[in-house]
Amino acid sequence: MNPIIDLRSDTVTKPSQGMREAMLTAPVGDDVIDIDPTVELLQARTAELLGKEAAIFMPSGTMTNQIALRVHCRPGDEFLCETGCHIYNYEQGAFAQLSGLVAKTIDGEAYLLDVEQLRDSVRPNSEHVVQTRLLCLENTHNSGGGKIYSLDRIQKLCEWAKSHSLATHLDGARLFNASVATKVSLREYAEPFDSISVCFSKGLGAPVGSCLVGTKSFIQGARRARKLFGGGMRQAGILAAGALYGLEKQMDRLEEDHQHAKLLADAIAQCKGLHLPDRIPDTNIVIFQLDRKLGTASEFAAKLKSFGILSLPFGPQCVRFVTHMDVSRSQIEAACRLIQACTSHALAS
Ligand SMILES: *Cc1c(COP(=O)(O)O)cnc(C)c1O
Repeated sequence: MNPIIDLRSDTVTKPSQGMREAMLTAPVGDDVIDIDPTVELLQARTAELLGKEAAIFMPSGTMTNQIALRVHCRPGDEFLCETGCHIYNYEQGAFAQLSGLVAKTIDGEAYLLDVEQLRDSVRPNSEHVVQTRLLCLENTHNSGGGKIYSLDRIQKLCEWAKSHSLATHLDGARLFNASVATKVSLREYAEPFDSISVCFSKGLGAPVGSCLVGTKSFIQGARRARKLFGGGMRQAGILAAGALYGLEKQMDRLEEDHQHAKLLADAIAQCKGLHLPDRIPDTNIVIFQLDRKLGTASEFAAKLKSFGILSLPFGPQCVRFVTHMDVSRSQIEAACRLIQACTSHALAS
């Protein structure tokens, strides 16, 4: 049998040979006592790429997001976010559990927010209600199928937020994909925000790690919270070296993943019973719905697995594929044929 083609997530990539070598030889120190030189380098490089004063390395994107919320807000404050976003849905409500915050969710138009939808969403200054403090956006939007916010739309949203004295945070777990796809620089995308979280463990192919980026004083607050959350790591330069390698050597190739996602969407579009909310994916995520006669999402994912493809059930009748650097063009072409064979088989049985 052919080896399994793993399209569950872009987090499944294994460190490349060059990345492993960079990690092996990285100079290290104790990043909790004072500094680790490779972590320092990664933080400086990330801050520079995003055009902000400072950055801080953490073990996960959940931690960078949740610490951003904590530093922007006080207990009893509220933040605004899109209903399908990661911060609200996939981080165990950590903002409530760990920081005493409340979320106000707003349904986007096909997952993206627009200024019109935010009108009247800021609470009045009254002792009866929580205080609105922050707007969070997600670019690309994971549940939205890797959907990209245009720079213009982001600028309008952040201008609106500032005019209401709200801070702004970007969950940019896949901001690198958005930047490569649109050719809008990371710096331009980051400029309207007070803080940005980026993940190295997704498309860039690093084993672990995220950075939170912002002003020096904001990052000082984040460093204090990182210790509180248990995210202080000692010789973290080993990990930071993988992230740095991803930034320097494995970013431009994201375009390939986007092409591969388009090929998968083309194949899915030809399958009876499968439906794409967006015919052409913006980046590296393809989400599709399936008719009940093909079974549930879990049943269909199990069938795909028997054909050699791993996918992620993403709702009762919804399945997600994510392309990444450990899946080659020929594997994608094979996957396209296997998806079609699997769907025909499911229809016939
Ligand atoms: C992956 C992801 C995160 C962070 O996830 P971790 O697994 O905690 O690193 C945050 N936001 C989005 C949109 C993501 O896709």
